[in-house]
Amino acid sequence: MSENILKVSGLKVAYGGIKAVKGIDLEVNKGELVTLIGANGAGKTTTLKAITNTLPACRVEGEITYMGSPLKNVKSFQLVERKLAMVPEGRGVFTRMSIHENMLMGAFTRKDKAGIDADIEKWYGVFPRLKERSAQLAGTLSGGEQQMLAMARALMCHPELLLLDEPSMGLSPIMVEKIFEVIRNVSAQGITILLVEQNAKLALEAAHRGYVMDSGSLIMTGAAQDMLHDPRVKAAYLGE
Ligand code: ATP
Repeated sequence: MSENILKVSGLKVAYGGIKAVKGIDLEVNKGELVTLIGANGAGKTTTLKAITNTLPACRVEGEITYMGSPLKNVKSFQLVERKLAMVPEGRGVFTRMSIHENMLMGAFTRKDKAGIDADIEKWYGVFPRLKERSAQLAGTLSGGEQQMLAMARALMCHPELLLLDEPSMGLSPIMVEKIFEVIRNVSAQGITILLVEQNAKLALEAAHRGYVMDSGSLIMTGAAQDMLHDPRVKAAYLGE
């Protein structure tokens, strides 16, 4: 049987009177690339924030288990210690630090200097643009370059689970292609990924499995290839 990395059961989130997530069950197994797609305001980001305990004050119910243990009350830095890395919407790079310093920050839980240096070189190999600009301040990078840096930094902690929130948002078509190429590459290395995306086509093409979220509920799930050919998904999310 496949090993469960993340299990979300009966998750409900309400911001005051707004029910953003209405009782969802979702799981991600080891080595899988699972995508959560849906329109603006469907509740995707709220779901990721509930997993990482980064929601503003609001009502949360349900259970979230990561590698067999509950995630309740776990702080952000402890998530990295537990090898759960998130690349938030809007990237969240340290703008006043260089690219190289951002990469080192991603490895703050590690002590193996040689391993850290080797990993920086490895990810610079995947993102040559970052290598060329390693001394440049992250705040001066383009949106796509910041997205690459945010992903590379997240990968520096050797994540068991990588959460990506709309990595394609605001990027040019060429940059979007590049980011998805990297996501497929990272997935092929065996890293488990939960990918939130509005670009349903690219996300389903890259993923093993998918979930469709609509108005706070999961309305469909299945193998990503099947979903790509499902007439309901095609009509509502692929514009076909
Ligand atoms: P998008 O693709 O546009 O980012 P999403 O699927 O990620 O959308 P969420 O950001 O999770 O959607 O928002 C779900 C609902 O919760 C929306 O109706 C949104 O307005 C509401 N919401 C999100 N954050 C807050 C907040 N801090 N306070 C009040 N309501 C919020």
